[in-house]
Amino acid sequence: METASALAQLNINLFRAGVWKPRTRPGHFEGNGIPALEWLSEVRKTYNLPVTIEIAEPAHVDEALKHNIDVLWIGARTTVNPFQVQSIAEALKGVNIPVMVKNPVNPDVDLWLGAIERFEKSGITDIAAIHRGFSGYSSASGYRNQPNWLIPIELKRRRPELTLICDPSHITGKRENVAEVAQKALDMRFDGLMIECHPNPENAWSDAAQQVTPAELKHILDNLIVRKEFTNDMGTLARLEYMRQLMDSLDAEIIDLIAKRMEMSEQIGAIKKECNMTVYQPGRWRDIVNTCSLRAAKHSLSEEFIVDIYEKIHHESIRIQLSVLE
Ligand code: PEP
Ligand code: MN
Repeated sequence: METASALAQLNINLFRAGVWKPRTRPGHFEGNGIPALEWLSEVRKTYNLPVTIEIAEPAHVDEALKHNIDVLWIGARTTVNPFQVQSIAEALKGVNIPVMVKNPVNPDVDLWLGAIERFEKSGITDIAAIHRGFSGYSSASGYRNQPNWLIPIELKRRRPELTLICDPSHITGKRENVAEVAQKALDMRFDGLMIECHPNPENAWSDAAQQVTPAELKHILDNLIVRKEFTNDMGTLARLEYMRQLMDSLDAEIIDLIAKRMEMSEQIGAIKKECNMTVYQPGRWRDIVNTCSLRAAKHSLSEEFIVDIYEKIHHESIRIQLSVLE
């Protein structure tokens, strides 16, 4: 109630709370269950805030509906499991309640979309996707979950009408980084944010490091820059259009060059065949990687990015040469 009374002063649309919490290992706080649903009814009544909870099985659906929860969400550990998603979707047949679907723990856009489609097939019409990042063994990004922005962008490309929400709390795992990821999400044209909040973060029973106080949340929200996708300014549009045409012609040149390179691969394949040589030569590939990395560095391009592209090009080149050998 303390959190709710503070958040009611802010311009938020939805109050989230974990009634049942999926924990990676047993022995941690797993939520207060049914009694907590009563607390949410109180939040709803007292502050006129719609409320949302995570549900992970059909029994949760029944209890949530009994307590007039406004919106349901599916957690990352549930989205990965089509059987589980299906049984929840079936429990929701004939009920029209908004459902938010978090991305699965692994970066698989089809699995994410598959869960969304199961709810659509059950007749749910109001669906949002929540990007909460992906598990990885090492956190090279310094975040709790790898953001892997390409995945939500691909989801939005396939389903432009879906509402896309970012959860910077679970991506970063650290309150200090919540604002920067929230801003990044807005800059990538996300429609909303889900942020964890606690009046006394150090004492939170789960995910303490990523909780922000209501005052910090207000600060984050007040400082977010909300940009627009389009502009009507003719001068800006003309400049953009000019740059885009230049870029399109560069892209055409890049593809023409790649085509030339692949033709060369074919000729090299023919030479290797004549002399009975192997297609793959580790030393030659190491040289290419070194030369490309140096050139990338000279242009202040990320070496990792260029090597990544070259791995794909080299792979295709090997495929072509193998087909020449055969
Ligand atoms: C949560 O939102 O508190 C949660 C458990 O998130 P996720 O399913 O993204 O891990
Ligand atoms: Mn959490």
